[in-house]
Amino acid sequence: MSISENVKSVLSRIETAARAVGKSPDEISLIAASKMNSADRVAEAIRAGIKICGENRVQELMEKNALNAYSGASLHFIGHLQKNKVKYVVGVCSLIQSVDSLELLSLIDSRAKQLGITQDVLLEINIAGEESKSGMRESDLPEILKKSAVFDSVRIRGLMAIPPISRSKGENRPYFARMYQLFIDNSLKKYDNVSMDFLSMGMSDDFEDAIAEGSNMVRVGSAIFGARQYHIPR
Ligand SMILES: *Cc1c(COP(=O)(O)O)cnc(C)c1O
Repeated sequence: MSISENVKSVLSRIETAARAVGKSPDEISLIAASKMNSADRVAEAIRAGIKICGENRVQELMEKNALNAYSGASLHFIGHLQKNKVKYVVGVCSLIQSVDSLELLSLIDSRAKQLGITQDVLLEINIAGEESKSGMRESDLPEILKKSAVFDSVRIRGLMAIPPISRSKGENRPYFARMYQLFIDNSLKKYDNVSMDFLSMGMSDDFEDAIAEGSNMVRVGSAIFGARQYHIPR
């Protein structure tokens, strides 16, 4: 299957999943997770109708950006963001999805101030409490939302999660449901510089389940680009 056929198929699966919960498909944002795919392949996805790309390594993002890979689409940062790389993504990415500490939020705020912009971000929650994963603990969320009032050059637009790799279909639904609960609970509270618009969860293997549980932003890689080609040295 070509990238363009894959994009069509993913969009139609999103539409079906959205309709099933009484939403219109344009209420669900599709992010093409383009890691390890060349600038040409990213451009091909954009020609096929992708409007937002997501990268998770700063170096790779900068290389592809220099080749104009994302032209015609907007760009999100979806990977673990190291503090010393903040300056390369603020203002370049319209949404930084993976903010997992107050310190990172504060650094993004400072950089955005320097540039005279407001940077949109999501807070990443380690919803399954996995040792090896990035993301803040669920219990850290109230404090960071409260303190966000002092960071007036960032706007927290919602939450993001990467649940465990599931071994069987539907296994992650309880995590998606828990995220939706957090999203709704915190939408009802009023915090400065926070507007709970986006709930980013669901990837190639489980985006339909995520939409069923309330996701409105899915990050899809291999279902668009095919299995990633890891270069094995010979
Ligand atoms: C790679 C990646 C995805 C997409 O993964 P697929 O399983 O290939 O769809 C989504 N989110 C993040 C943060 C990723 O790094």
